Amino acid sequence: MQELEDRIRHDGIVKAGNVLKVDAFLNHQCDVELFDHMGAEWARLFKDVEINKILTIEASGIGMACIAAQHFGGVPVVFAKKAQSINLDGEQYATTIYSFTKQKEYPVIVGKRFLSEGDKVLIIDDFLANGCALEGLIKICEAAGAEVAGIGIAVEKGFQGGGDKLRERGFRVESLARIADMDCDTDEITFA
Ligand code: 5GP
Repeated sequence: MQELEDRIRHDGIVKAGNVLKVDAFLNHQCDVELFDHMGAEWARLFKDVEINKILTIEASGIGMACIAAQHFGGVPVVFAKKAQSINLDGEQYATTIYSFTKQKEYPVIVGKRFLSEGDKVLIIDDFLANGCALEGLIKICEAAGAEVAGIGIAVEKGFQGGGDKLRERGFRVESLARIADMDCDTDEITFA
């Protein structure tokens, strides 16, 4: 998606450790008009896929998922919550996710009331790096008996391999910007 690539080139900052900072428009200050165009693009890419629910993870995914939902007929958006600990009362699907940016594991939960067998889920997230966050969300869908109908990503860092692994497993992953390479010394970003 040219508009997102241009914005990343203009306002993205490449940090050490393969981290791209996009907090000026994506995950701290939010450019709602850009989110709207991203939602339209996901809707175009997944127009042949039946989707009745969007699943994301707090916090960065929520804004873009809610705007995107308006392009999918106003389907509900469920976000996985980062929990302090996993509550074993049986009311929640739970798993742990290894955080690429924080370099530690954390538990995430989704209330069983909000994800069920028969749901056709579009997972949306801001970044795809090694794929750990998506693995966790896929596990939660599997536990619920819900189908992962598609995965919509804003920025995929292709050189970290998570997207290719998911595609090899048969998931349909559509990333709006795919970074082939980035360099924190020159701030140069190469798109795939
Ligand atoms: P993964 O689990 O695929 O390794 O990493 C994806 C998650 O880590 C995303 O949900 C995102 O929050 C965070 N993340 C991964 N890479 C980056 C990055 O370069 N910049 C930012 N801001 N977040 C990232």
